[in-house]
Amino acid sequence: MRVLVINSGSSSLKYQVRDTDTHEVLLSGLVERIGEEVPDHAAALDTVDAHLHRVLGETTVDAVGHRVVHGGERFAEPVRITDDVTDAIERLAPLAPLHNPAAALGIGAILERWPGMPQVAVFDTAFHRTMPEHAWRYAVPEALYREHGVRRYGFHGTSHDYVTGRAAELLGVDRADFSAVVAHLGNGASVTAIRAGVSVDTSMGYTPLEGLVMGTRSGDLDPSIITQLIIRGEYTAEDMDRILNKDSGLKGLAGENDMRAVVEAAAAGDDRAELALSVAAYRLQKYIGAYHVAVGGAQAIVFTAGIGENSSPFRERVAAGLAALGVELDPAANLERSPRPRVVSTAASAIPVLVVPTDEEAEIARATADIVRADVPGQT
Ligand code: ADP
Repeated sequence: MRVLVINSGSSSLKYQVRDTDTHEVLLSGLVERIGEEVPDHAAALDTVDAHLHRVLGETTVDAVGHRVVHGGERFAEPVRITDDVTDAIERLAPLAPLHNPAAALGIGAILERWPGMPQVAVFDTAFHRTMPEHAWRYAVPEALYREHGVRRYGFHGTSHDYVTGRAAELLGVDRADFSAVVAHLGNGASVTAIRAGVSVDTSMGYTPLEGLVMGTRSGDLDPSIITQLIIRGEYTAEDMDRILNKDSGLKGLAGENDMRAVVEAAAAGDDRAELALSVAAYRLQKYIGAYHVAVGGAQAIVFTAGIGENSSPFRERVAAGLAALGVELDPAANLERSPRPRVVSTAASAIPVLVVPTDEEAEIARATADIVRADVPGQT
């Protein structure tokens, strides 16, 4: 089946066409500046449509799969999109103000252009719906949860799900028996505790701000920092939101949000870059230790996404702090560059360390094809 995978942002639209039978990427692209040079998401689809025709000729796609950031408490799995589902995605906008409205616009634009096209929504939060309540509740008055949905949701679920499956495969373990700690380290970063193949805890919470030190996000901090600075009148709530999401993390500590640049600066003797790496690695080590306990003993520690897949110096730094778990990296294997899932620890390592490249589009395409096939009688 040919699936058009769409990731709609407020001002951009990323797309790929995947053949789910051959696993081929038939085409991919990015439309930027929506709202400026490109008036809206419908106009962005003109570009996508032209690209489809150029590469695929008259045959188009069989289905569209959308990445949707927030599925709230309702969506635990990918779903076929109906008006009711689109309404639900829009109603969740307060939880993902930038992302969910954009996804709804992308869905609407497809519906307008290709009215009969099967569409599927794949949610970033869905994989974490298996978390037990003690992992997703915050210790705050129940009214905040009941009335405002204040709880931990977790994100990057599509990636954590895909990578978990590939890691179990690589180790030859049945997924249902597989426990691991999976670290998705990109511009945004989160780590997930996998027990019996499913998510039982994850570092991102109500929003993608909680948890690890990221490119520009602070991750965990004392909430009083925010309330105190606002109460004292030093900053507005909007200032704090911007500072913690856009000016913190590696950028806040080292002045630079790109991991490559931070690693290079540290190697050249920049103390701030060195500190940023130490803080980021230490935070991740603490989560790995905690999640090793949460899953009852991890069978693997898995690195993925831009930093996890490519930054051997950062993996080395993290692994160096895991000696208490008996983790031992193989320096040569860690340096090797490869697009394939691989083991980068020694045979003596008490827990194997893996690098497993993520592929969220592949997972979205697969889920979309599965749902569309299951829904349409007579098709195989
Ligand atoms: P996004 O969350 O935007 O999808 P990515 O998964 O692409 O992000 O990860 C982006 C991060 O990966 C950046 O910090 C970038 O520096 C880092 N990265 C990409 N390639 C390399 C590399 N070769 N070495 C070190 N870091 C890398």
